[in-house]
This record gives sequence, C-alpha cells and structure tokens, in this order.
Amino acid sequence: MAGVPMITTVGGETVVEEATVAAFSSRLRGELLRPSHNGYAGARKVWNGMIDKRPALIVRCAGVGDVVNAVRFAREHDLLSSVRGGGHNIAGKAVCDGGLMIDLSGMRSVQVDPIKRTARVEGGALLGDLDHQTQAFGLATTAGVVTHTGVGGLTLGGGVGRLARKHGLACDNLLAVEVVTTAGEVLRASATENEDLFWGVRGGGGNFGVVTAFEYQLHPVGPGVLGGIVVHRLEKAQAALEFYHEYSRTAPDELSADAIFLTSPDGARVVAISVCCIGPIGQGERVLQPLRRFGPPLSDQILPLPYTEVQAAADAFFPIGLRYYWKSHFLSEISSDAVEATVSHFARVPSARSLLVFQQFGGAVGRVGRSETAFWHRDVQWDNFAVSVWTNPADSERQVQWVREWWDLMKPFSVGGEYVNNLGEEGEDRVRAAYGVNYERLVALKSKYDPANFFRLNANITPTMGAAS
Ligand SMILES: Cc1cc2nc3c(=O)[nH]c(=O)nc-3n(C[C@H](O)[C@H](O)[C@H](O)COP(=O)(O)OP(=O)(O)OC[C@H]3O[C@@H](n4cnc5c(N)ncnc54)[C@H](O)[C@@H]3O)c2cc1C
Repeated sequence: MAGVPMITTVGGETVVEEATVAAFSSRLRGELLRPSHNGYAGARKVWNGMIDKRPALIVRCAGVGDVVNAVRFAREHDLLSSVRGGGHNIAGKAVCDGGLMIDLSGMRSVQVDPIKRTARVEGGALLGDLDHQTQAFGLATTAGVVTHTGVGGLTLGGGVGRLARKHGLACDNLLAVEVVTTAGEVLRASATENEDLFWGVRGGGGNFGVVTAFEYQLHPVGPGVLGGIVVHRLEKAQAALEFYHEYSRTAPDELSADAIFLTSPDGARVVAISVCCIGPIGQGERVLQPLRRFGPPLSDQILPLPYTEVQAAADAFFPIGLRYYWKSHFLSEISSDAVEATVSHFARVPSARSLLVFQQFGGAVGRVGRSETAFWHRDVQWDNFAVSVWTNPADSERQVQWVREWWDLMKPFSVGGEYVNNLGEEGEDRVRAAYGVNYERLVALKSKYDPANFFRLNANITPTMGAAS
C-alpha cells in the first residue's frame, strides 16, 4: 500500500498510509502541505538561512482545532514533530527532516481589551503584530527588539526587550495561556488554573505543549518615546564600554540601553549604544544627557520617535534568510578585562554584518524571585552574545570559528549560564545551566505533562519516565 515515509520521535522510519494522511487532511481547516505542493518550499524556510530541513508534512494550522488534530495524529503514528512559531530559533528547531511540522504562522491575531489593558495573542503571532495592535491603544507589553521574531518562542523562553527593566520579561506579563497538551487536550493555565503548568511555560520553552494563545498584561507606553543611538569609533570603544557599564546599570528602569559592536555603512568599526526611554520625553532628555555628552560621540541619533519605530530599528541587522551563528553568556558585570577582550575580538570580526551585543537586563526582571517562574537567571545584568552573519556558504567555518573563539574568551566573565532562547544544539548541560535549581522541577513537570518527550525539538528537558531516548 502506498504511503508517506516519515521519521518517528526516536529517529526510526515509518510509513503512514495515503488514506490515513488524506483523512487527517480532511479534518483540518488549514492546509496540509507535502513536498510536491505549492507553498511547501516557503513554509519549510525559517529565519536562519543555514537551516535546510524538509518535513514530510507541514500542517498550516488555522486555529486550535487544527493543532489538536495535528498533535493527536502525530502521537497516534509516533511522528517526530516540530512546532513553528516565528521560526527564529538559531538551530531551526521549528522544522524537522522527515517529520511533521506544526506550523502556527497562520495564527497571528491579537485582540486588545483596552479597558482591562490585556491582549489575547495567537501562538504564531510576531512581535510586530503585537506592538502594532497594542500601540493602537497606546499600550504595549515586553517584546524583543526585532519585529519578525515570534511571540511564541520568545515568551516561552523568557522574552527580554526594551520594556523589561520597567515591566519584567514577556513571560512575567503573562496572565494565562491556552495549551494543547501531548494528549491533544486543550488546557488553560494561569495563576489559578493548572498553576504548575503556568509556572513551567514562563521560561520552560516549548516543552509542555503547543501554546495556541497567550494573554498578556499591557501597560501604557508612548506612542512617542525617546530612542536611537550614540556611536563611538572602535578606538574609543574601551572607554565608551566602561562608561556604558556604569551608566546603564545605574539608570532608571524607564531606560533600556544595549551596546552593539558593529560595522557602519562606511566600513568603520564602531560601538553603538542603543537606547529607549519610555518615561516622559523631558525625563528622557535628562536621563540621557550624560550618555550624549560622553566622548563626545561620533554621532548622536537620539530623538523622539514612535515606539513602534524604535522597535523596528534593529530589523535591518537581522534580515530573514541570511546565514547566522551565535553563542551567548549571561553577565552580571563587565570587568575591564571583559571590555578589553570584547574590543580586541571585534577588531578581528570576519564579516561587516557580524555583531557583538550586550543586551540589558536588570530592573524589574530581577525583582521576580528565581523560582517564581521557570526563568532562573534573574540577577544578571546583560545577555552578551556574538552573532556571525554572512551570505557565502564557503565562509561558514570562519564565521562559526569567530563566534566560538569569542565564547571561550568571555567564559571567565560569565555567570555560568546563558539565555535559553539563545541555545541551539549545545546539549543538555547548557540547558541545565540555563535553568539552575529550577531544572529538577522542570523535569518533574515534563514527566507529568509530556512523559514520552513528544515535544522534544526545543531546549529539551528530558523527562524521567517514558520513552525519553
Ligand atoms: C533576529 C532575532 C532577534 C531576537 N531578539 C530577541 C530579543 O530581543 N529578546 C529575546 O528575548 N529573544 C530574542 N531572540 C531570541 C528568540 O527569543 C528565540 O529565537 C525564540 O526561539 C524565537 O521564537 P520563535 O517563535 O520565532 O521561534 P521558533 O523557532 O518558531 O520556536 C522556537 C522554539 O519555541 C517553540 N515554540 C514557538 N512557538 C510556540 C508555541 N506557540 N507553543 C509552543 N512552542 C512554541 C518551538 O517549538 C521551538 O522549540 C531573537 C532571535 C532572533 C533570531
């Protein structure tokens, strides 16, 4: 009997009968794509152009009913399955070779309740969707800094961005989630319903189910904020980064400031300090004065801007489809040795697109207890990462090497763990380090909600029971 060859959860081979696939397809409102179908080539692509995986089937879910059907079908046939939110995981965990891809990219609605200041956001929405709809009411919640990143993966792993110091991580702003479990059931989790699951989805990644909807607390933001960059030449970068270290960690929570080593359009290597102040413009002018005076900078491009424009400002550095590789460390200090290592390593950057970034944490992020949610590293001040960006496949080895050398160089300055949303294929030890003492509780939760480790294409927490190999 003809069938579709597929890969099982543990990497074996299986064949699903054509009639079974056809019956599954007929139960969906969205499309079931196969390699011969129009739309398949685009649907299997993710943000990182290094990823080239080919699922046997892609379910373009049109709603929670399709997700339930997809999970039940995959479970029944023991199929390797991936969940695609915005497709931005660096290692392409959203897509899998020979398996079933549960694609949420058709589920992007955002419904705002301006009276309660809440938003219900579908699991495949992008950050730009969230900001666009909430800013229509002068509201926002913490999101990351690139508009085409997925709300799903970002929030489930924590979610840091320009509002985090004032309002906490994206996961700290969650009021509830709707989750399709490995049994194909729809659960709601909040502070009063399935509380253990609610604890786990706030930092524990996609380990516990497919989140079809997130409900967020919103806050008044903008629509005008003071944002932009000051730029210093690489020759002045050491002093600029030392200044940034003191300035950023003592700044009020309304200010977020990231330091980015980059190559400017004229080919000069520089450090840019990118800021967003969500307080009143007058307060922002006062707070930003020392930063704008220091140096003085090569250029000062800080001005009143719509919040959504500040949120889109970094998009140009991370176009979809280029080749990317990154690694990261969490830092609580930027010592002078770390500054020196950063500046000297950037002087050897092999591509004009590659970056070294210090993304600021602190403020409200650190005021949540380390075990109040699954997100453990509450006391760090910066997510420090090196990103190689290139286009020619022949350059891959050199680009990856530059990031790995940076990671080794910065290891002595790291708190010993990193941001789970930066992990690719680093393995279980790094996942453990990302979760600290919370790891054991996450294992227990995984064993309860997904004992067979069906949701395994993520920063995986291995359950203690079932077919977890
Ligand atoms: C250009 C760029 C900028 C970034 N900027 C930031 C930033 O400012 N702040 C920050 O905190 N992080 C940032 N990140 C990291 C980002 O949080 C992670 O890459 C995250 O995994 C992206 O989520 P996604 O939905 O786009 O990814 P995907 O690759 O689709 O998913 C990643 C993981 O989450 C799971 N997942 C996704 N959606 C769901 C869902 N609805 N239900 C269950 N599981 C789901 C997937 O199965 C997968 O394991 C950035 C990443 C990129 C590439």
